[in-house]
Amino acid sequence: MIVYKVEGWTKGNLPVVLFAIKTEYSKQKYYDSNKRRFEVKVLVINCGSSSLKYRILDMRTEELLVKGLVERIALPGSVIIQEKQGDRTELDLPLQDHKDAISHVLGLLTDEVHGVLKSLDEISAVGHRIVHGGEHYSEAAYVTDEVIEAIEQCKDMAPLHNHAHVLGIRACRDLMPNTPMVCVFDTAFHQTMPPESYLYAIPYEFYEKYKIRRYGFHGTSHGYVSKRAAEILGKDLKDLKMITCHLGNGASLAAIKGGKCFDTSMGLTPLDGLVMGTRSGVLDPAILTFLAEKENMSAEQVLNMLNKKSGILGLSGISSDFRDVEAAAKEGNERAHQALDVYVHRVKAYIGSYAAEMNGLDVLVFTAGVGENDRWIRSRICENMDFLGIELDPEKNQVQGEEAIISTEASRVKIMVLPTHEELVIARSTKEIVEKL
Ligand code: ADP
Repeated sequence: MIVYKVEGWTKGNLPVVLFAIKTEYSKQKYYDSNKRRFEVKVLVINCGSSSLKYRILDMRTEELLVKGLVERIALPGSVIIQEKQGDRTELDLPLQDHKDAISHVLGLLTDEVHGVLKSLDEISAVGHRIVHGGEHYSEAAYVTDEVIEAIEQCKDMAPLHNHAHVLGIRACRDLMPNTPMVCVFDTAFHQTMPPESYLYAIPYEFYEKYKIRRYGFHGTSHGYVSKRAAEILGKDLKDLKMITCHLGNGASLAAIKGGKCFDTSMGLTPLDGLVMGTRSGVLDPAILTFLAEKENMSAEQVLNMLNKKSGILGLSGISSDFRDVEAAAKEGNERAHQALDVYVHRVKAYIGSYAAEMNGLDVLVFTAGVGENDRWIRSRICENMDFLGIELDPEKNQVQGEEAIISTEASRVKIMVLPTHEELVIARSTKEIVEKL
């Protein structure tokens, strides 16, 4: 709708008219000199079951204005920790639920001393990170009632996450009813996988009935680093076979052929695949009933153990943090050593199988907490892989947390370290969708 506003009258009694394109969200829209609309500040929200991470990015420069973390929502000892340039605020206060938490976060963001906004109207759009989009979404989506319903429907497959996401979306809707919102799905990037990658070999009726299949996660990260790698190498993504290793607390690999995900190590849920900080990754499913019987545990208790007490923590008995486990291994702790050996062995096995699936490999990317920082793990993974054309340069591998090519000149495969920026991808997708409204 075009709205005219008479601002005054000329001497000839002609009206001086200002006009603006008014939409439901006109307060939040900004125009550049070419009258193209663009969004300025995007709030990115990542709701967990009892935690919430948030960031505001200025999308003119993609600068991070503020970031924060809420912990222990609806539990004793809840806290909001917010950081902006030169200012760290910690608020200990009871938070009843996600809406209460978001309401306090918005209060802190507009606080005169610690905030970064004069009013909430400055937030042009909200981007929500959603773990599971099922088969519904192969890209980000503008939030409507239908989208919320679809996220609810996937909650059997990511019960803790998806329920929390819906709470977060509803809270934002209540508190900022005129601000457009977008959902960005962890599973979306992997929707290009062919059936031979995503089907589990169980009776087909269970795929039809319950959509039991491999979905994959960390999609925003795999998608971002694969594009970035092609950009840095000056190559077209279409011409590249890549393996991206997102190695953080949670960890997954993706085989990316011609820019599209061909296979990934996480499955129906983020428990499948690699050994992780506290998650077992792939195992013989018969272990579940074996342990349930022997230890008199319910299926849910065994699953909880596989999610929270396994992986590097379970094997080493020390910690889920690689820094602690590596320190122990260096001091001669045998179990710590073994835990890291199992971790590295599994990553190598996946790299080998993905190179075989794609009939080759051009680029190997390391990202996330471990991938970006842990030189020792990177060098262990790349050890004895020269038959595949993977040759690490030990000196270049000293890099931490910055973009770099760490392979030797002779290496057929380019090995890269690329910090991931999931929040930036969410903000970019949000901006892109809201711009088109
Ligand atoms: P999340 O999956 O929670 O997003 P991150 O990608 O932030 O996790 O990775 C966190 C993990 O990265 C930590 O648990 C730690 O094991 C590992 N990590 C972070 N920094 C280092 C480092 N300098 N050396 C080794 N490991 C590191």
